[in-house]
Amino acid sequence: MTIIIVGGGLTGISLTLFLRYFCRKDLEIDLIENGGTKKNHSILQERTIFLNKSTLQKFKKIKALSDIRNHIYPVKSIYISKHGCKNLLKISSEEYLSCPFFGCTTLLSKVKRYLFKKVQLISNKSTRIHHPDQVNHIKYHKNYISARLKSGKILRAKLLISSCKINTDNGRYGIQWSEKCRQFATFMKFNTEKPFCGVSIERFTKNGSLAVLPNGTNHGTLIWFYDKDIKNNIDRLSKESFVRKVEEELPFFNNIFGKIQNLSRRSSFPIYVSTPDSVVNHRLILIGNAAQTVHPIAGQGFNLIVRDIYELSQIISKSMKKSEDFGSYMILQKYREKRKMDRIRVVQMTNMLSEIYNSSFYSYLFNIFFKFFSVSPDYLRKKLIRRILNTLHII
Ligand SMILES: Cc1cc2nc3c(=O)[nH]c(=O)nc-3n(C[C@H](O)[C@H](O)[C@H](O)COP(=O)(O)OP(=O)(O)OC[C@H]3O[C@@H](n4cnc5c(N)ncnc54)[C@H](O)[C@@H]3O)c2cc1C
Repeated sequence: MTIIIVGGGLTGISLTLFLRYFCRKDLEIDLIENGGTKKNHSILQERTIFLNKSTLQKFKKIKALSDIRNHIYPVKSIYISKHGCKNLLKISSEEYLSCPFFGCTTLLSKVKRYLFKKVQLISNKSTRIHHPDQVNHIKYHKNYISARLKSGKILRAKLLISSCKINTDNGRYGIQWSEKCRQFATFMKFNTEKPFCGVSIERFTKNGSLAVLPNGTNHGTLIWFYDKDIKNNIDRLSKESFVRKVEEELPFFNNIFGKIQNLSRRSSFPIYVSTPDSVVNHRLILIGNAAQTVHPIAGQGFNLIVRDIYELSQIISKSMKKSEDFGSYMILQKYREKRKMDRIRVVQMTNMLSEIYNSSFYSYLFNIFFKFFSVSPDYLRKKLIRRILNTLHII
């Protein structure tokens, strides 16, 4: 029985590793990656991403964590603040969750490189990598699905899982996506005078939200989400003016980390949020960026995807044990239903967070919560925050 995985980004690579771990040896996998464009690589692949504890545990289970262990940095505390609210809410993992860290940060390009190497190491007759190659067309048949590659190869499988949107004979898989540019983002790396000590920052400023993630002892990444109308103003700032602007927006930054030094080149890009009208079709599952692109504000995109991958690998493994057809509509429906609520929750939560900085209803609500947290007794605040973090799968 064969599965075709289209797209060897972080999702496709991880899915290959999870399927290889959970499923029997007679599962054959064809992974197709077209290599991406150079432009995409230089700008977006160098970003830092946050992997929560549950994601790290899942990678540990499939014995892939050791491959990236040297390139992850723990996030031990999150400092949350908002323009107009005096307090700084400090949430430490030790104090709130009795565990040493919330999760870790890492460079997307590095994790991808190490995990791809791992896939190459396990590739054999039953795990085939087609790289560089790309799927140009897909055809649906009653008992199988076939993919025509740019190289001319034609692959057949019981199920095709795609992490990218490609054109097929039937439009884009016969599925419609709603896509919206929600905001723009600028990100850059920098050094600090004082060590990060695992602190990350989320600040809702007048001009969008700003996140700072640790990326080494004295290295950090800053990402600033803002609306289109101020994009030109931000893009035009010189390095020095940009640092001044950031220090203005983060008034407590210098006290904690000292001065911002060695600012890298800045890149700005649009933040698209998209969802398909269905994540399954005949012998087809959409996963990763093809199933949803959520606003990156809370660093939840890939963490959500790993939960999808984990569930899907388990469902496929169980159906193989029962000698069922894992590409059948019944199995795909089961997966869709199991993962529906988590996806809706993360999409809603990230959309809501992305609107907190402006004068929306969510901003008003956030102010009330924030004030409540600063006056509420310790035990109540901890209980509530623990509940929020758990419900929203932030940890
Ligand atoms: C600014 C930003 C910050 C983020 N921060 C976080 C974070 O902190 N934590 C978190 O969990 N998530 C975060 N995310 C989300 C996370 O980066 C994505 O969820 C993840 O990278 C998605 O990977 P993917 O493999 O699904 O998609 P992609 O990276 O888009 O991969 C798709 C792959 O398919 C290939 N491809 C395309 N067409 C074809 C074809 N026809 N045939 C074969 N291959 C093809 C492409 O070359 C590409 O490699 C962030 C996202 C952004 C934009």
